[in-house]
Amino acid sequence: MYNIAVIGGGCMGLASALEIQKLLKNNVQVTIFAEKFTPDTTSDIAAGLWEPYLLGETEPENLIRWGKGTYDYLTQLWQEGKAKEAGICLQPCINLNEEASEETPVWLPITLGYSKLTPGHLKSLNEQYKWNFNVGYSFITFTWEGAIFLPYLMKIFSENGGKTVQRRIEHFNELSNYDVIVNCTGLASRDLLNDLDVTPIRGQIRRVKAPWQYSSFLIDHKNEGSCYIIANTHSVVLGGTKQKSFDTTLSDADSDRFLNHLNRFIPSLKDAEVVKNVVGLRPYRSKVRLEEEFLKTPDGKTLKVVHNYGHGGSGLSLSVGCGQHAAELVVKMLRVDKNKL
Ligand SMILES: Cc1cc2nc3c(=O)[nH]c(=O)nc-3n(C[C@H](O)[C@H](O)[C@H](O)COP(=O)(O)OP(=O)(O)OC[C@H]3O[C@@H](n4cnc5c(N)ncnc54)[C@H](O)[C@@H]3O)c2cc1C
Repeated sequence: MYNIAVIGGGCMGLASALEIQKLLKNNVQVTIFAEKFTPDTTSDIAAGLWEPYLLGETEPENLIRWGKGTYDYLTQLWQEGKAKEAGICLQPCINLNEEASEETPVWLPITLGYSKLTPGHLKSLNEQYKWNFNVGYSFITFTWEGAIFLPYLMKIFSENGGKTVQRRIEHFNELSNYDVIVNCTGLASRDLLNDLDVTPIRGQIRRVKAPWQYSSFLIDHKNEGSCYIIANTHSVVLGGTKQKSFDTTLSDADSDRFLNHLNRFIPSLKDAEVVKNVVGLRPYRSKVRLEEEFLKTPDGKTLKVVHNYGHGGSGLSLSVGCGQHAAELVVKMLRVDKNKL
């Protein structure tokens, strides 16, 4: 029986833990150590849209592999009738940009149905919304709230015999009795590993009750930044900000900026009942770190570690695909003979 420790109870930790259980079946005991579990992680704050976003220079082939892994998993849950339990909703999303140079993203063909908006379509949108969009694409995607999805994953994890321990890990050495350690600590990897490439990108959003809204819009304004409407099952997310900052206090100036734009776009949202305003820090890195590493403890032991962090604005979107990849790396590490290291 292998003993695997996963550090982190956000979407990455849970998805990795579940995929390790799936791959190693009855031969594994997985324990998740986390300082915070749902509903207190960044993953619980996420707006819940499947769309790879803010991923720096992450290789396109990885982005497609991880994004597709998650999209396929959501499709399967949706087809099996688990959409309500997992908080999943399949819906159209329109991406509109005032910049003519915006390229069609590499991940678009993963989605169920997509198209680049024609000049005629853009013209009619511009007339309707009094905007000046130059490029746009539409696609069918999933939205799903972390606050519903994480408890869903936690339930399956414990049904599979997984253990959870609420504890802050100061150093990987504390887990030296485990066969492999999987690091899914998100932004906290900055301190845990002194990886200064991990930086916070502050996101402020508002959740409102707008049960008539069944589609999502992402709008990029040339001078005034981006804003979005993301329809989840129980609320609609209005957002947002993307600032390099550690500040988690709410800013009226930020919400005024994106609400002004969005109210112009869909006026009915103006009077929608506010559920909550919230700020979270996206764990941005110049590229996602998903790889294995051997670390030495002060007493000369070798730790086998798989890192899975730095997913920027796409943690939910890449969670299952990255979890599958991390699980494969765990199996690869288990095969390495410790005596030969
Ligand atoms: C406003 C906003 C909107 C977003 N919208 C979307 C979206 O629509 N779609 C999308 O895909 N992504 C979105 N994101 C991004 C997404 O939330 C993150 O990429 C994702 O949550 C990262 O997941 P994670 O599991 O790596 O980190 P986290 O969710 O932060 O989890 C980290 C875990 O590690 C634990 N931990 C950290 N350090 C230690 C330690 N030393 N010891 C023990 N435990 C530790 C924490 O307690 C926690 O359990 C959004 C983010 C924000 C802020």
